Amino acid sequence: MALIVQKYGGTSVGDIKRIENVAEMVQAAHDAGNQIVVVVSAMSGETNRLIDLAKQISEQPEPREYDVLVSTGEQVTIALLSMALNRRGCPARSYTGSQVHILTDSAHTKARILDIDESRIREDLKKGRVVVVAGFQGRDEHGNITTLGRGGSDTTAVALAAALKADECQIYTDVDGVYTTDPRVVSNARRLDRITFEEMLEMASLGSKVLQIRSVEFAGKYNVPLRVLSSFEPGGGTLITYEDENMEQPVISGIAFNRDEAKLTILGVPDQPGVAFNILGPIGQANIEVDMIIQNVAQDATTDFTFTVHRNDYEKARTVLEKTAKELGAREVKGDKSIVKISVVGVGMRSHAGVASTMFEALARENINIQMISTSEIKISVVVDEKYLELGVRTLHDAFKLEQASAA
Ligand code: ADP
Ligand code: ASP
Ligand code: MG
Repeated sequence: MALIVQKYGGTSVGDIKRIENVAEMVQAAHDAGNQIVVVVSAMSGETNRLIDLAKQISEQPEPREYDVLVSTGEQVTIALLSMALNRRGCPARSYTGSQVHILTDSAHTKARILDIDESRIREDLKKGRVVVVAGFQGRDEHGNITTLGRGGSDTTAVALAAALKADECQIYTDVDGVYTTDPRVVSNARRLDRITFEEMLEMASLGSKVLQIRSVEFAGKYNVPLRVLSSFEPGGGTLITYEDENMEQPVISGIAFNRDEAKLTILGVPDQPGVAFNILGPIGQANIEVDMIIQNVAQDATTDFTFTVHRNDYEKARTVLEKTAKELGAREVKGDKSIVKISVVGVGMRSHAGVASTMFEALARENINIQMISTSEIKISVVVDEKYLELGVRTLHDAFKLEQASAA
């Protein structure tokens, strides 16, 4: 008998017919003799609908109330799924995050899970019940409802699997695994049977929303066997694994992209020690995360400084930067919201030269101008105009022959 945590995303519970389909899958796993804990997201579109309602009242609603609101979507699906299971004769009980003591910090809208008391879940499992838990939510030490950030139901599932020492955590979604890139952008993207935690972490942090980044961090840290599968068709999906020393690693395993980027440049800043601190200090104080940074070599004792932020933070960052520009006596502030970041990822890159030149050559051939570049041991990212997103991703997918299974 195995203990399995299954998570079903928004599309998989998008209407009553699909909820019935999920109930059928859960019942089959339960009837096969397994203990099953199910985590569900809100019905597709529901979280966006709730956020939109809040925005109609206030551009910046209080984070506490925002969490009370957006956590309700999941409460609908846990109840409906439990009803569907019970009607089929499969005993089930639904719980909100708070009811199963998913304790988080108090960082509303992006809370981190600190602890889970799994005793109540274990009692139900012992009685032969399926336990259905609302994803994406928890409570802080003061009893306030918190949410875990967009895509947070993945993290609920992995955290529960870690707490219960589950045999596997299965993430059921609307694609049948993790692909070399988003299959909705590149039609010949290839499903991977396996991907390492390290690569998955990099892909997730560079924009592949198939798994929330924190869920991958959690799974790696607590050694949770994690699998991504389709809720619509059978198949083994993709297993996230540790790197196998004996395995021949492809140089590039995937391409990620992020549409949520924006770029800011401050031109003609007097070049002296502390420039970076003077520019980015106030940005950090405003709670804005900075991603890529470029500082040009000064020629006339001034320098140009460019960095990227999340598109949602663009206006806020620009206001802060304009104030800084005045204080520092800089010439001008420029910004661009129509940029995207495209990244190639692979642990095999460590031992292979030439990845960057292949990448740059392929983009040059398509006349795609690279605005910024950043590299780490297992990835290279470029910023380009958003109109080149699809072309850029497809071009790189071809250049690294990712459609072929033996890509090396
Ligand atoms: P869910 O609602 O089930 O959580 P998500 O929309 O969050 O589903 O994640 C699944 C989506 O992730 C897919 O529909 C796909 O468009 C997208 N995606 C992005 N990159 C990849 C990738 N490398 N492999 C598979 N899917 C990807
Ligand atoms: N419902 C939440 C969202 O749309 C959490 C999730 O689906 O994982 O982001
Ligand atoms: Mg998701």
